[in-house]
Amino acid sequence: MTIDDAARGFASLAVHAGQEFDPTTGAVIPPVHFSTTYAQDGIGGLRQGYEYGRSANPTRTALQTQLAAIEGGAHAFSFASGLAAEDALLRAVLAPGDEVLLGNDVYGGTHRLIARVLGPWGVRLRTVDMSDLDAVRAAVAAHPPRVLWVETPSNPLLRITDIAGLAAIGREAGALVVVDNTFATPALQRPLARGADVVVHSTTKYLGGHSDVVGGALVLDDDALAEQIGFLQFAAGAVSGPLDAWLTTRGIKTLAVRMQRHSENAAAVAEFLAGHDRVARVYYPGLASHPGHELAAQQMSGFGGIVSVALESAAAARRFAESTRLFQLAESLGGVESLVNYPNEMTHASVRGTDAAVPVEVVRLSVGIEDVADLLADLDRALAV
Ligand code: PLP
Repeated sequence: MTIDDAARGFASLAVHAGQEFDPTTGAVIPPVHFSTTYAQDGIGGLRQGYEYGRSANPTRTALQTQLAAIEGGAHAFSFASGLAAEDALLRAVLAPGDEVLLGNDVYGGTHRLIARVLGPWGVRLRTVDMSDLDAVRAAVAAHPPRVLWVETPSNPLLRITDIAGLAAIGREAGALVVVDNTFATPALQRPLARGADVVVHSTTKYLGGHSDVVGGALVLDDDALAEQIGFLQFAAGAVSGPLDAWLTTRGIKTLAVRMQRHSENAAAVAEFLAGHDRVARVYYPGLASHPGHELAAQQMSGFGGIVSVALESAAAARRFAESTRLFQLAESLGGVESLVNYPNEMTHASVRGTDAAVPVEVVRLSVGIEDVADLLADLDRALAV
C-alpha cells in the first residue's frame, strides 16, 4: 500500500497525495524537478512519459495529483495563474457565438477575460445574480448559455449560490457548470460532489496560502473535456513552473488548519464589525443575518476568511481602507497575513460602469491567521479615524 492509498481524509490527502517519497534517496519531500528536457532511451523511448517541460514535469504532476485528490476530481491541471486556467477552460469549451452566463458578483478579471479577450472572438457574455436560481432559470430560458459560471461565496459580496440547484439547471440546459472555488477552497466546500462540472482556482490565494506564488488550476471528472484541456495546456503552454508548482504543493499541505483559523478569525471580525456603529452592513456568510447563511451552513463546512463591509459613504470606506496597519492595503487575498482592499478602485476596477460594478461604500477584508485581538484592535483604531 502506498501513502496515497492510505490517505483518506481531507487533511491526510492534502499532506500526502502525489507526495510519495523519492524512490532513489528516500527523501520524504520529493525533489523539485527543474530540468526542461528528459533523456530518451532511443528515439521516442521516454521514461514515465516525460519528454519536455511544457508537456509534463514531475513536480507539476505531483501538484496535479494533489489538486485532484483534495477536490475529489478525476483530473487536475495546473496553470501559470488563475486567469490562465480560466482562459484554457473557456477556449476548450466555447466556439464563436456561444454565451457565458456569469455571476454578477465575480472577480473583475474573470469578467474582463470574457468581455474583452474572448468577446472579440465572438463569445457573448451576460450576467445574473446566481444566488437567485429563479433569475438564473429565466436567463437560461431566454437564451441557452454554453457555460454557467459562479463564484460561491462570491467576490467581494459573499453571495451564496446553491451549487446542486445550479448544477441541475445546467444539466437540463446542456450547459457546463463551472464553480470558482477560490474563496471556500476544498477544505470547506467540494463543488464536484454537488454536481458541478469543473472547479476553478486561483491557487495564488488560499491554496498557495502565503502570498508568494501566482497560479491557477482546473479540476474535473469528464475524460473528454480533460483531454481537450490537457491539449490546450500543452499546446498553448500557460503551465506553472516547477518552483511555483512546488510552493503551491507546500501551501496545500497546511490548507486544512489554515482555513480553520481563517474562518475563526473572520467570524470574530464579522461579529465585531456587525456591532460597530460606523459600519452600515457586514457581508459574511457565517452571520445568521446573511441571506445565504443557512445554505452556506449546509454546503460548506466553515464560512471562510473573507469579510466585506459597507461603510456610510465612499469617503468613509476609502478612509477605513487606508487607515488599518496590520491589515495591509493590497490586492489579492487568502494569505496568512491580513489584507484590506477597496474593490471599486482595486481588484474590481475593470468592472466599474458595468452591472458587475462593486458599490463604492464596500471594503473587502482578507482575514489572516494573526492573533485575533490584534486584528480587532487594528480595525477599531481604523474605524475611529
Ligand atoms: N478567481 C478569483 C475568485 C480571484 O479572486 C482571482 C484573483 O484575484 C482569480 C480568479 C484570478 O486568479 P489569478 O490572479 O491567479 O490570475
